[in-house]
Amino acid sequence: MPVDARQALLCWYVVDKRALPWRAQGGAQPDPYRVWLSEVMLQQTTVAAVKPYFEAFTRRWPTVQALAAAPHDEVMAAWAGLGYYARARNLIACARAVTGGHGGRFPDEEAELRKLPGIGAYTAAAIAAIAFGRRAVVVDGNVERVIARLHAIEAPLPQARARIRALADAMTPDENAGDFAQAMMDLGATVCTPRNPACGRCPLSAHCAAFLTGEAERYPVRAPKAARPRREGVAYWLEHEGEVLLVRRPAKGLLGGMLALPTDAPAEAPWRDAGAVDHVFTHFALTMQLRCAETATRPEGTWWPVARIGEAGLPTLFAKLAERGAAWREAA
Ligand code: SF4
Repeated sequence: MPVDARQALLCWYVVDKRALPWRAQGGAQPDPYRVWLSEVMLQQTTVAAVKPYFEAFTRRWPTVQALAAAPHDEVMAAWAGLGYYARARNLIACARAVTGGHGGRFPDEEAELRKLPGIGAYTAAAIAAIAFGRRAVVVDGNVERVIARLHAIEAPLPQARARIRALADAMTPDENAGDFAQAMMDLGATVCTPRNPACGRCPLSAHCAAFLTGEAERYPVRAPKAARPRREGVAYWLEHEGEVLLVRRPAKGLLGGMLALPTDAPAEAPWRDAGAVDHVFTHFALTMQLRCAETATRPEGTWWPVARIGEAGLPTLFAKLAERGAAWREAA
């Protein structure tokens, strides 16, 4: 990227950067804990969805030490609804590793950061650049789109990723790498948007090959997507004296470690169908049938008051099923 283009981007960033709750204000040093927490939450999740979770987490656990000391189940429950629950398990493990093995300070090198649970190549680069000002190549979906357009890359994603990364590397300055990375991300999020990019107010339009073609929106080119398979399952709502049976899911696998309704019949009971709930995961769509019953006996498990089911910290799929279960109870 020519020096004047980089300069134009950084000037634009100073004026037009997004106000995000995890960003340092007024020239203050970024807090690595907040940078790390936001980057983990933002993996495959939108800024709008992350903001309330970030604010709730930092209010409740303002430091990595506080998070490391928090009970596992409380953190999992606080994460409920944000999805991709392996992130929450890794979040706790990482907070404990930083507190136990690094004296409560995040390492400032990408290679060291990558040794921590839940920190992959992208997150390590983002933390190193944003929290510590290290030169690191940060390529998220927004940056990918901006670069694909700047160079009018005809090769489709995901094959074009290696080339995009090499171009990002060549563009990244030695100084100010954190601001540069955030400027690229912000440009992609607010100007170089997937639909209707605002090329007229883009600081890079004079250097953009896609803009010159007049078809900016065509980039990045994408390989056709395979159809998402649909799976089916059954969940069970078993009630006893105003409480419902919940189970903790196995640590590994779908929604691992989360509190949920049982997905195997937990007792002999007069089960009644209460309809189905659809939910879309990244790699498949799921239709979950709900079966409801009351029981006179009380099998082993976590019994949760139906009136307070909203506080159980259920992941979204099971929260939707629980809504249906509670409605079944009222109608019964
Ligand atoms: Fe994106 Fe348009 Fe700017 Fe090119 S000129 S980087 S397509 S907003």
